[in-house]
Amino acid sequence: MPGRFAERGFLIFLVLGLAAGCARRPVEKVETREAMNTVVTVRVVAPSNPIARRALDDAWKEMDECVRLLDCHRPDSHISQINQSEPPFTVFVHPLVANCLAAAKEVWEETGGAFDPTIGPLLELWRKAAEEGKEPEQRNIAEALERVGMDKVEIEMETMMVARNVTARTPQSALPSQENLLEPAHLVGFTREGMRLDLGGIAKGCIIGRMVRRMERAGATAVLVDAGGDVYAAGQRPPSLVPPGGDPRWLVGVQDPRAPAQSPHEPGRLFTRLHIGDLAVATSGHYYRGFTIAGKRYSHIIDPRTGRPVSTRLASVTVVSPDPAQADGLATAIEVLGAEEGMKLVVRTEGVECLLLEWAKEPPSSEPSDDRLLEAPLVEYRSKGFAALEVGSGPTHDCVPPTSRHAGAPPPP
Ligand code: ADP
Ligand code: MG
Repeated sequence: MPGRFAERGFLIFLVLGLAAGCARRPVEKVETREAMNTVVTVRVVAPSNPIARRALDDAWKEMDECVRLLDCHRPDSHISQINQSEPPFTVFVHPLVANCLAAAKEVWEETGGAFDPTIGPLLELWRKAAEEGKEPEQRNIAEALERVGMDKVEIEMETMMVARNVTARTPQSALPSQENLLEPAHLVGFTREGMRLDLGGIAKGCIIGRMVRRMERAGATAVLVDAGGDVYAAGQRPPSLVPPGGDPRWLVGVQDPRAPAQSPHEPGRLFTRLHIGDLAVATSGHYYRGFTIAGKRYSHIIDPRTGRPVSTRLASVTVVSPDPAQADGLATAIEVLGAEEGMKLVVRTEGVECLLLEWAKEPPSSEPSDDRLLEAPLVEYRSKGFAALEVGSGPTHDCVPPTSRHAGAPPPP
């Protein structure tokens, strides 16, 4: 009988040993969700299954929390609360909202105002014009422009402690008094009436940055978030997850603007692929979004200098930066500035690289699904350090498809 026990003991020891061994082997997991008007894919490498699970759950939680606070189309978001405020009133906002606004202000400064998150009044004007099927009048554009300008937004970056869910409109009698109901907040307000913030050009960058940091806090060792056009990758795959001779860095595809995916679930054709680690890649292009007035196509990006949708020869703009919010904002700004000014901006901005693709002839007026687009000639502009990130030389059209509309990572090998 003692022999039996010894045998059982050995078996238990063996099983525990195997379990411990398994637990220590790094795992890679991937999950996809529809959110932020696109398909979001999260890839995580973690020391064990439970840690990977926890990191994924935390990433989705973070995304939902950020969208709830930043989405100007949700009436209860902090951005909507700011939009409903009029001077001299200010609104308490969550630190993540203040941080995203501060990032937007930085890009506004860097780009001489080409990126401006206060273009809300102009977006509203052009949205109405598209509904009515008629361009807005110049005097209405001029009037809206007076309510645009990041210099007319005040952000108090000093952290203060406020009671939860308190806004400028909360009546005195409704303020909770217990100390445990306090949370950090910042004050934001407009200096002009009728202003509107729209973080559509940078929010995805801010959000994927926060998702990655939160997954790292949960114990993930390498992470990639792809939010259709905005990708942020951190860390590298461990040797056990890389095939012999393979590159441990993440592989990200840049979509060919002539052959965009027809739906967020279907990959389009790739223009090139990049190996990245601890970098963000943002691609902005017109081929997907925009609107039509009297048969004419207009971009969804507004030039804050003229108040009109941009009309550019740029087919797509891809920006690489260590900061995902900066990459997202700069990609939108370069659409406004055009290739020449855009390239100058990238050259003078440290740590930033870009690939600008311009239609060699007239920008196509046809719908993105038109087959004639497929072979339209493009002029390529690369900043000095961009080519070093590319896999192989020159454009690659036949490589692993991206997981999303503009850029994405291929499935794990
Ligand atoms: P996507 O990658 O989703 O196509 P972008 O990152 O290029 O989008 O941002 C486009 C969005 O940015 C628009 O839908 C609008 O909400 C906002 N936007 C438009 N023009 C500007 C501008 N000049 N500055 C900042 N944001 C802008
Ligand atoms: Mg952008």
